[in-house]
Amino acid sequence: MSDSRYSFTEAPDRVYDRLIARATRDELTGCLVAGHSASKQTGYSVIGWSENGQNHTELGHRVVWMHAHGPMAEGMTVDHRQGYCPRNCVEVTHLRELPLLENSRRNKGSDWPLGQLCSRNHGPEHQVLVDRQTRTGAHRQSPRCSECMKIAAREYKAANRADVNRRNREYRARKKSGLVPSGRG
Ligand SMILES: [Zn+2]
Ligand SMILES: [Zn+2]
Repeated sequence: MSDSRYSFTEAPDRVYDRLIARATRDELTGCLVAGHSASKQTGYSVIGWSENGQNHTELGHRVVWMHAHGPMAEGMTVDHRQGYCPRNCVEVTHLRELPLLENSRRNKGSDWPLGQLCSRNHGPEHQVLVDRQTRTGAHRQSPRCSECMKIAAREYKAANRADVNRRNREYRARKKSGLVPSGRG
C-alpha cells in the first residue's frame, strides 16, 4: 500500500502512550493489537493528534517503530515481519524497516529474497516506475523491473507466434482435406 497520505512524523510520547495503553496483547502470537480505529481500507491502525495547531495522522505501527528507532529514512517503510500479524499489530519486535520498493512488490503477492528487487535479481538500475490503473480506476505509480518486463514481452511474443503458426498449420490441414472451400469461386 502507499503510505504517502500519512505524515512520516514522529509522534509525541503522549500519543505513543495512548496507543499502547489501548492495545491488547494476544497471548498466543505475542501480537500487540491496537485498540484504535483501524483504516477500513487497509486494516492498519491509525492514530491522530494535533500539535502547534497542526493535525497529524500516522499509522499505529509506524508510531511504535519511530518511537523505538527514530525517524524513518527516506524511501523506507515499516511492515510486519510476521505473516500471522494482523495489520493493526503494534508489537515493535514484529516490525521491520525495509525499502518501499520491496514492500510494494511483496503486497503484489510475489516474493523473492530480501535485498533482491525482482525474481531474476536484476540490479536497481533496471527499476522503473510504471503507471498502473487500480481497480477503482485511480492511477498509481508502481515499481517494476524493466529487464523483467522486456523478458515478459519477448515470452508473450514467442507464445503468440507459436499460437499463430499452429492456427495457420491447422487451417492449411483443413484446407487440404477439403473442409475449407478454397477461393470464393
Ligand atoms: Zn504481531
Ligand atoms: Zn528483473
